[in-house]
Amino acid sequence: MTQLSQFGQKFAQHSGIARLMQDLNEGIRTPGAVMLGGGNPAHIPEMDNYFSQLLKEMTENGSLSDAVCNYDGPQGKDTMLQALAACLKHKLGWNISAKNIALTNGSQSAFFYLFNLLGGTTKDGKKRKILFPIAPEYIGYTDSGLEEDLFVANKPTIEMLPNGQFKYHVDFAHLEIGDDIAAICVSRPTNPTGNVITDDEVEKLEALAKRHNIPLIIDNAYGVPFPGIIFTQATPRWNDNTILCMSLSKLGLPGARCGIIIANEELISAITNVNGIISLAPGGIGPAMALEMLKRDDLMRLSQDVIGPFYHQRVLETINIIRRYLPEERCLIHKPEGAIFLWLWFKDLPVSCEELYRRLKKRGVLMVPGHYFFPGLEDSWDHAHQCMRMNYVPEPELIEKGIKILAEEIENIYQPV
Ligand code: PLP
Repeated sequence: MTQLSQFGQKFAQHSGIARLMQDLNEGIRTPGAVMLGGGNPAHIPEMDNYFSQLLKEMTENGSLSDAVCNYDGPQGKDTMLQALAACLKHKLGWNISAKNIALTNGSQSAFFYLFNLLGGTTKDGKKRKILFPIAPEYIGYTDSGLEEDLFVANKPTIEMLPNGQFKYHVDFAHLEIGDDIAAICVSRPTNPTGNVITDDEVEKLEALAKRHNIPLIIDNAYGVPFPGIIFTQATPRWNDNTILCMSLSKLGLPGARCGIIIANEELISAITNVNGIISLAPGGIGPAMALEMLKRDDLMRLSQDVIGPFYHQRVLETINIIRRYLPEERCLIHKPEGAIFLWLWFKDLPVSCEELYRRLKKRGVLMVPGHYFFPGLEDSWDHAHQCMRMNYVPEPELIEKGIKILAEEIENIYQPV
């Protein structure tokens, strides 16, 4: 048996979530399975055509072979960093330059770097943690700490809304920020819930972070100004105590593996050094495509005019389907404000969401049980075992097939045959 280090033991283990994700990824063996579990973005025909045409033009003008045949620097492609900084400065008025931006191989690796640069045991032996001010939160953070127990989370308050909807809010009254907190982190829009914390909540978190002399990390994988999968008012905000993480994935380019970190120069310099050690340089194809899109002024235009409206229409269609099969008394829905998921709450469900997941899987429908999204809270809160996350991206016919089975299973739970 190979002897593994502590790092090896933590990262090589087949965690519950890795097994679940594999399950989702492989698809289930039932023919005609309905996969509502994963996080792949949609293939929007207009975007697919746009990317094909862009790659054709980049082949012709030599920028594609330039990207493939050369290493970029460890901070990422210089020309792209400059163009993005200029664009954000011009369009949003942010006081930034290329020195405030670093690229990574997907934003997933950006979070691994950030959480472990900031959290963990310090030289003087103090253990510092990353605080999620509102849970549920992105499942992909959960196992990313080099040390155990790197994360703490705060339960939300729940606002009940008309039409069987609800919305989570940051519970500031119970948000404790002790000396052991190294950073605050929140996804906006949130995966899994589709929540968008309000401008007011962001302002309050910014103020708290500043007061405690710790950074506020905002995961903007779905947000504004790109890819723009947001259906509510949300101001894109940045200051030099904010670490804003963005990604090209949800534009429709997850295979490009391009993450973008916008932060103060000191942190960008740290990320640049980590990039050098771990990957020499981030991959160049995504940044080369983004540069071309910036030159054509297409990055934000397509986000606003094509991507946002596509997902908005899909989510409304999916809610209509859900309501045809599941009344409000049986299923509450988190207000869909962004991202590519719907978060369903089966209040007072007599079985756990894990059991519901198993029953659905047997019938060829995959959704993710909600308790995985409450790092550090799942054992202490019933609510965590009453929710499911579904991806609303598949074609409506497939969604309808899945929802019909979901409704049947819910009825079976309440009225066993
Ligand atoms: N953050 C959130 C909230 C996500 O949902 C995802 C992917 O689904 C990521 C980060 C990581 O995305 P990527 O590594 O493709 O940029």
